[in-house]
Parts: sequence; C-alpha cells; structure tokens
Amino acid sequence: MSSSAEARNRRILVVDDETEVLEFLKFYLDSLDWVTVTADTVAEAFRILEKEDFFLIITDIAMPDMDGYEFINALREKGIASQMVLMTGFGYNPDHTLVKINRTSRYPVLFKPFNRQKVVRTIEEAWENYHKEDEGR
Ligand SMILES: [Mg+2]
Repeated sequence: MSSSAEARNRRILVVDDETEVLEFLKFYLDSLDWVTVTADTVAEAFRILEKEDFFLIITDIAMPDMDGYEFINALREKGIASQMVLMTGFGYNPDHTLVKINRTSRYPVLFKPFNRQKVVRTIEEAWENYHKEDEGR
C-alpha cells in the first residue's frame, strides 16, 4: 500500500431528515474507520460541502427541503465529484424520485432498515470507484 493510500479521502457525508438514521450510520460507519459527517437538511449539507471534500455522499431521497433528485442535480451543477448513494425507507414509494434520478444516472440504493453487509459493500465499491477515477486523472 502506498503512503498516499493512508491519506486518501475516507470522508462520507450522510444526509437525512431522520435523526435516528444519522445517529446509526455515524456510529456504525465510524466503527468501520470511515470518517462520517452528518447533515439533517440539504442546506446544512451544502454548508459542509463548501468546507470539505467527501468521497461519498449518502442521501435520503425524501426530505422536506429538497428531494434526492433535486439535491443530486444541484451537486452536479456545483461540480461536486463525490460518489452518490441513495437511501429510502421501506413503506415510502420511491418509484417517482428513483425513476427520475435513474433516467440520467444509476446510483446504488440502500433500503431502510439497512442490511449491514449491503451498506459495507456499497461503500467499499464507492471508495474504489472514487479513487479509480483519481488515478485516471
Ligand atoms: Mg426522509
């Protein structure tokens, strides 16, 4: 492993209006040595993103201030190169927003309650993809 691997961006931003989801993911992902920052509104996420880069943004698709589709479009307009993963709750019908999002790009989706193995695998894939693109630059 090269010395730069140690310094690689391991930061994950989690955006969800449900505090329990943020608390669970922060506790769980930090325990796996990711560096997790949480935001309970899209506005807060944008404030954080002005200061720090994240290899991954995990976002809920149903939030009061902006849905996941609008949020991802706004991130792309700002030129934010983070990998994206979507989350949605069981019982919420995600079709409308997911179909809109997937019309342009496909993103992995994590369903709540979380399957921990799927969470781990999805994040590892995102980390590899992010740093693969790094090497291509
Ligand atoms: Mg929500």
